[in-house]
Amino acid sequence: MTRRQEIIEILRNEAWSLQDLAVILRIHIKNIFEDIPHIEKTVRPKEKLVITPAQCLKCNFTFKERRKIKTPSRCPKCKGTHIKEPVFQIQKI
Ligand SMILES: [Zn+2]
Repeated sequence: MTRRQEIIEILRNEAWSLQDLAVILRIHIKNIFEDIPHIEKTVRPKEKLVITPAQCLKCNFTFKERRKIKTPSRCPKCKGTHIKEPVFQIQKI
Protein backbone atom coordinates (compact mmCIF):
# COMPACT_ATOMS: atom_id res chain seq x y z
CA MET A 1 0.00 0.00 0.00
CA THR A 2 1.30 3.43 -0.86
CA ARG A 3 1.37 6.21 1.70
CA ARG A 4 -1.54 7.95 0.03
CA GLN A 5 -3.63 4.79 0.04
CA GLU A 6 -2.80 4.36 3.68
CA ILE A 7 -3.95 7.90 4.48
CA ILE A 8 -7.18 7.29 2.54
CA GLU A 9 -7.87 4.16 4.56
CA ILE A 10 -7.27 5.96 7.84
CA LEU A 11 -9.49 8.91 6.90
CA ARG A 12 -12.30 6.62 5.80
CA ASN A 13 -12.58 5.32 9.32
CA GLU A 14 -12.13 8.44 11.36
CA ALA A 15 -11.48 12.19 11.20
CA TRP A 16 -7.93 13.25 11.97
CA SER A 17 -5.85 16.37 11.89
CA LEU A 18 -2.83 16.33 9.62
CA GLN A 19 -0.56 16.59 12.63
CA ASP A 20 -2.11 13.41 14.03
CA LEU A 21 -1.68 11.67 10.68
CA ALA A 22 1.97 12.64 10.60
CA VAL A 23 2.44 11.04 14.02
CA ILE A 24 0.50 7.88 13.10
CA LEU A 25 2.40 7.38 9.84
CA ARG A 26 5.71 8.61 11.26
CA ILE A 27 6.30 11.00 8.41
CA HIS A 28 6.80 14.73 8.19
CA ILE A 29 3.61 16.80 8.03
CA LYS A 30 5.06 18.47 4.92
CA ASN A 31 4.54 15.20 3.03
CA ILE A 32 0.92 15.06 4.06
CA PHE A 33 0.34 18.62 2.87
CA GLU A 34 1.54 17.39 -0.52
CA ASP A 35 -0.64 14.29 -0.42
CA ILE A 36 -3.93 15.96 0.43
CA PRO A 37 -4.72 17.52 -3.00
CA HIS A 38 -3.93 14.15 -4.66
CA ILE A 39 -6.10 12.30 -2.18
CA GLU A 40 -8.93 14.74 -2.80
CA LYS A 41 -8.82 13.83 -6.51
CA THR A 42 -8.28 10.12 -5.99
CA VAL A 43 -11.40 9.51 -3.91
CA ARG A 44 -13.72 11.17 -6.40
CA PRO A 45 -16.41 10.68 -7.57
CA LYS A 46 -17.74 8.21 -5.03
CA GLU A 47 -16.27 9.85 -1.99
CA LYS A 48 -15.14 13.28 -0.94
CA LEU A 49 -12.61 14.71 1.44
CA VAL A 50 -14.50 16.62 4.11
CA ILE A 51 -12.60 19.29 6.01
CA THR A 52 -13.83 20.56 9.34
CA PRO A 53 -12.26 24.01 9.42
CA ALA A 54 -9.92 25.33 12.06
CA GLN A 55 -11.53 27.14 14.97
CA CYS A 56 -10.32 29.64 17.54
CA LEU A 57 -10.59 28.15 21.01
CA LYS A 58 -10.90 31.56 22.61
CA CYS A 59 -13.72 33.26 20.67
CA ASN A 60 -14.97 30.30 18.54
CA PHE A 61 -14.19 32.07 15.31
CA THR A 62 -14.31 29.50 12.51
CA PHE A 63 -11.91 29.76 9.57
CA LYS A 64 -14.66 28.82 7.13
CA GLU A 65 -13.89 31.13 4.30
CA ARG A 66 -10.54 29.55 3.61
CA ARG A 67 -10.24 25.86 3.07
CA LYS A 68 -6.56 25.96 3.72
CA ILE A 69 -5.14 22.76 5.00
CA LYS A 70 -2.56 24.35 7.23
CA THR A 71 -3.59 25.44 10.70
CA PRO A 72 -3.72 29.24 10.91
CA SER A 73 -1.38 30.60 13.54
CA ARG A 74 -3.55 33.43 14.80
CA CYS A 75 -7.22 34.34 15.02
CA PRO A 76 -8.11 37.41 12.91
CA LYS A 77 -10.90 38.34 15.29
CA CYS A 78 -9.41 38.16 18.78
CA LYS A 79 -5.72 37.63 17.84
CA GLY A 80 -5.74 34.52 19.97
CA THR A 81 -3.21 31.84 19.16
CA HIS A 82 -5.02 28.78 20.51
CA ILE A 83 -6.39 27.40 17.27
CA LYS A 84 -8.01 24.01 16.97
CA GLU A 85 -6.57 22.23 13.97
CA PRO A 86 -8.75 21.44 10.96
CA VAL A 87 -9.70 17.76 10.76
CA PHE A 88 -10.08 15.65 7.66
CA GLN A 89 -12.32 12.73 6.82
CA ILE A 90 -13.32 10.84 3.71
CA GLN A 91 -17.04 10.32 3.35
CA LYS A 92 -19.23 8.61 0.79
CA ILE A 93 -21.25 10.99 -1.34
ZN1 LIG B 1 -10.47 34.22 18.29
